[in-house]
Amino acid sequence: MSCIFCKIIKGDIPSYKVYEDENIIAFLDISQITKGHTLIVPKTHVKNIYGLDELLAKKIFQAVPKIAKAIKKTYNPIGMNIINNNDKPHQTVDHFHIHLIPRYKNDKFKIDFINRQDQFNPEDYEKIESEIRQNILDLEE
Ligand code: AMP
Ligand code: ZN
Repeated sequence: MSCIFCKIIKGDIPSYKVYEDENIIAFLDISQITKGHTLIVPKTHVKNIYGLDELLAKKIFQAVPKIAKAIKKTYNPIGMNIINNNDKPHQTVDHFHIHLIPRYKNDKFKIDFINRQDQFNPEDYEKIESEIRQNILDLEE
């Protein structure tokens, strides 16, 4: 078993654990992109979002507000980014996790939301809408 997060869950390697229940653990990300940067990790080894069923998703995501509120209460950040990387280009640990990244003035962390609305016309939006909608329906069958 080579998964580093499974090792943390088993207690084979140390972590700075802020929360644990029967389904998840939350511990400080060693990189501390910003002060209080925390990971929420299911105890079940699942590679990423595509491996989650609804029940496991519920167990993981229901912990997010609690831990976000606790970080906010602790450090009073100006904001909070909640990020989950799946596959390329950013997933480096192949065990599902959610990053909670509190934001501070001049913290140098950068996310670019680039508005490309000018490159899409209404027909493009309609085509994208129907393609994704159809695949949601297929998944629900
Ligand atoms: P990602 O790039 O979304 O897969 O994020 C993986 C994260 O795991 C990175 O931000 C790492 O800093 C973090 N990480 C890796 N090893 C450890 C560890 N032993 N303890 C805490 N965080 C870790
Ligand atoms: Zn694992």
